[in-house]
Amino acid sequence: MIGIIGGGITGIATAYELAKLGEDVVVFEKRFFGSGSTFRCASGIRAQFTDEANIRLMKYTIERWKKLGEELGHDVHFRQTGYLFLATSEEEVEAFKENIRLQNKLGVPTKLIDMDEAKEIVPPLNTEPFLAGAWNPEDGKASPFHALYAYKKAAEELGVKFYEYTPVVGLERLDGSWLIKTERGDFKVDVIVNAANAWAPQINAMAGLDVVPIKPIKHQIIKTEPIKRGQIEPLVCPPSWNDSYVIQDGEDGGVMCGTGLEYPSSPDDFTPTYEFAREVLKWVVRIVPALKHVHVVRQWAGHYAKTPDNNPAIGKLAEGFYIAAGFSGHGFMMAPAVGQAMAELIVKGRSKVPLDWEWFDPRRFERGELRKSAFQIG
Ligand SMILES: Cc1cc2nc3c(=O)[nH]c(=O)nc-3n(C[C@H](O)[C@H](O)[C@H](O)COP(=O)(O)OP(=O)(O)OC[C@H]3O[C@@H](n4cnc5c(N)ncnc54)[C@H](O)[C@@H]3O)c2cc1C
Repeated sequence: MIGIIGGGITGIATAYELAKLGEDVVVFEKRFFGSGSTFRCASGIRAQFTDEANIRLMKYTIERWKKLGEELGHDVHFRQTGYLFLATSEEEVEAFKENIRLQNKLGVPTKLIDMDEAKEIVPPLNTEPFLAGAWNPEDGKASPFHALYAYKKAAEELGVKFYEYTPVVGLERLDGSWLIKTERGDFKVDVIVNAANAWAPQINAMAGLDVVPIKPIKHQIIKTEPIKRGQIEPLVCPPSWNDSYVIQDGEDGGVMCGTGLEYPSSPDDFTPTYEFAREVLKWVVRIVPALKHVHVVRQWAGHYAKTPDNNPAIGKLAEGFYIAAGFSGHGFMMAPAVGQAMAELIVKGRSKVPLDWEWFDPRRFERGELRKSAFQIG
């Protein structure tokens, strides 16, 4: 029996993949499924990273996203609507060119575009402040809600047991197995997967494995009323404008807006701030001025679970104890590959997913080894 702690997209995708390999799996979620970061995310999926490990992983993951709805028997609303990064200085254009060279070398078709092309892709874009764009039409978005429930339904059909509103409150190492203590009683399992993301350090501490420095950092989004489809379908982000971004929701057409205003906080603090609303609006109306005329209908907060190098911790921490957590602002997009890689690692000891285990090694922090910071937006 394998026990997964955390019912976000990572835990549930891993449960599904383990069940596909014939394992008995149980998933514990302390609130409702998706209530952590997953249902609070901006839905974006991109291979436009700036290091080989993340580009390779995301190139593979996008291939999985393409077929995911068909595999799970439920549309996950994956659409290749692209990501458009915008440069505001010559130095940034040069940095974009360097990233594009690396992405192209790894088979990702990003290209540098001018502002006429950008305007065709995003009709209401304010092109005036920008010199060039980095455009990958293969990036995209999917519905966190449909993706999570598609995985859960498919996992249930394969026999996975799900416990909602069931916090794990303690762990005990037995001889060759683990005891997971919950408010519904104790469960004996052979293997534990810590998929608790912003709460992962609490789970590690229960196991006496307090070695992965993950910090919950509150991030927020405001969302507008729906606008005409096809206006801001890609995620659009000028990184030098405090990593601010806009993206039209793939389902209802509202515009989600984010910016890099970070608040270190408890992972249970979901209170939005007025300061964020003011800050994000200041930036996004410069990207798309027409947004001035659109109503804001929602604001919410969630957490980037951040490691010191913004790369997640993925792998084995101890005998029978694995972790996939600390995904910063890019864990939704990675889940199909991470779930598969984790399941294959646990069951077969190796995986065909091009996941660089050394890069994401959860023990790297203890050794004082940081990777190049993963490119984070928002
Ligand atoms: C504002 C915002 C925008 C984002 N935008 C994007 C984006 O565009 N693209 C992208 O890829 N990513 C994005 N992210 C990041 C993304 O949301 C996360 O990386 C991803 O959802 C992580 O999924 P997860 O399953 O690992 O964690 P979570 O969804 O956080 O799941 C962890 C679960 O563990 C549960 N848990 C905690 N403690 C316990 C316990 N003791 N017992 C049982 N269960 C427990 C929690 O309740 C939670 O549901 C964004 C995040 C935020 C906040």
